[in-house]
Amino acid sequence: MIRLLTFVLITAALVFCTVWFANNPGNMTIVWLGYRFDGSIGMVALGLLALTAVLVLVWRGWTIIANSPGWLGRLLGSRRRKKGQQALTMGLLELASGDVRQALKHTRAVDRYLEDDTLTRLLTAQAAELDGNNEAAKRQFEAMLEKPDSAFFGLRGLLQLALKSDDREAALEYAERAHRLRPRNPSVIVTLFDLLLTSKRWDRALGLLVDAQKASVFGEKELTHRRALLITAKAEDAIASGENAEAIKLLRKALNAEPDFTGAAVLLAGLYRDLKQDSKACDVVIQSWRTVPSAALGSIFRETLTGDALAQVKSVEKLVANNPDHVESQIVLAEAALEADLWGMARSNLEKAMATKAEARHYRLMADLALREHQDGAKARELLIKASHANPDPDWRCGACGTETDRWVVSCPSCHSFGSVEWRAPLRIHQDETVPPKPDAEKPASKEPAAIKQEGTVIEHDKDADASDDVTNHPKAASQPAV
Ligand SMILES: [Zn+2]
Repeated sequence: MIRLLTFVLITAALVFCTVWFANNPGNMTIVWLGYRFDGSIGMVALGLLALTAVLVLVWRGWTIIANSPGWLGRLLGSRRRKKGQQALTMGLLELASGDVRQALKHTRAVDRYLEDDTLTRLLTAQAAELDGNNEAAKRQFEAMLEKPDSAFFGLRGLLQLALKSDDREAALEYAERAHRLRPRNPSVIVTLFDLLLTSKRWDRALGLLVDAQKASVFGEKELTHRRALLITAKAEDAIASGENAEAIKLLRKALNAEPDFTGAAVLLAGLYRDLKQDSKACDVVIQSWRTVPSAALGSIFRETLTGDALAQVKSVEKLVANNPDHVESQIVLAEAALEADLWGMARSNLEKAMATKAEARHYRLMADLALREHQDGAKARELLIKASHANPDPDWRCGACGTETDRWVVSCPSCHSFGSVEWRAPLRIHQDETVPPKPDAEKPASKEPAAIKQEGTVIEHDKDADASDDVTNHPKAASQPAV
C-alpha cells in the first residue's frame, strides 16, 4: 500500500515537472571550450537526469568489481569444503577397512581443507586407536574437551579408552561427565549404570534410573526389576553389617516394587528365620509361593515348622494349596510326606514331579522311599545310579557364566554380572559336533543317558532344559544332540 502511494506521488511529481517545464521552456546557453550549446531548461534538466542514471549504473558496476574478492573467496571456500568432506569420507572408509596409514593420509587433507579441527581430531584419534596407539588417541580426545561442541565426543572417546584399559575409576568419571553433558544419551546411561554397579554405588545407580526412565532406556518391567535389585543390593549390605531392621525395611520395599522377585523373598524369609521370627518367615514364603515357588523357599518354610511330622505335612499342604501343580509344590510335599512315613502321598507327588522333568533329586527321593518303605536296597541303588545320570538339580546359578552359588546373591561372585543369579537348571552337557554321528537309524538308540557322555562334549546353557524329557526313561531323546 505504501509502495503504491509512493509510486503515485512520484508519477504525479514527474507529470507536474514535465507540464511545468513545457509551459515555462526558457532558454539556456552554455559556452565551453569553444563549443556553444543552446537549449531549453527542460532539456538541460533531462540531460542532468540521464547523467545521474549513468553515474548510478557506473557506481553499481564498480561495487560489484570491488566486492569480487569476497565472491571469489566464497567460491574457493566452497571448493575447499568439498575437498575436505571428500577427504573425510575417504578417511572414514579407510578406517572402516582397517587401513590406518591411508586413513591418516586423508586426515591431513581434512586438516588442510576444513577450518574446524573437530573432525580431524576424531578421525586421527580413531585411526590412532585402531593402530594401537592409545596415548595418541587420548591426546586427541583430550584436545576435543576444549570446545563445547566436541567435548561430549571427546569424553565418549576417553570413556572407551578407559574401559579398554580396565581403568574403571577413570571410566566412571568420564561417564559421569558425559552424562552431565547429555543426560538423555542412552549408551552413556547404560555404561554409567554398569560402572556404578561394579563400584557398588547403589544410591547413585537408583538416581540414574530416573534419567533412564526419562530417556526410555529400559522398558517398564526392566526398570522395575533393576530398581528392586538395587534396593536388594542395599539390603545385602545392611545384612552384612548387622543392620537387620534396615535390611527388612529395604527387602519389603523391593518386594513391594516387584512382588514376584524370588531373590528378595528368599533373603527376607531367611532373615526372619535367622531372627527366629518364624511366622513372618512363613508369611513371606506363602506370599511368594503363589507366583515363584522355589526349593530355597520350600526349605526355609520347612525349617520354620514346629510340631510332629504329620502336623508339618498339614502346614506344607496349606503352603502348596495356592500353587498345587508346580513341580516345587510336589517336591516339598513329597519331602514332608517321607518324613511322616506317608509313602503313598510321597510316591504320588514324586511321580507327578517326574512326569514333568526327572531330575537327580527326584531319583534320590525315590531311592529314599524304596529304602524306608520296603527296605529294598537293590532298588534304592538302581535309583541312585539313575540319579547320577539324570538331569542335574536346579540351583542358584549365574545366567551369564553358569557359576553355582549356595544362596541367592545380587551379583555373581565369579563374573560380577548384576542380577544374573537365579534359581535355574544347570548348564547341560551335550554331544559335540566333533563326535561322530550315529552310524544309521537302524541301530537302536543308546540306552546310556546323555549326561554320562563326557568325551568330546561341550558345555552350553540349555534354555530348553526345563522342557527336556527324562533321559533315562526316554533313551531316544537322550541320544539326540541338543540344539
Ligand atoms: Zn557369573
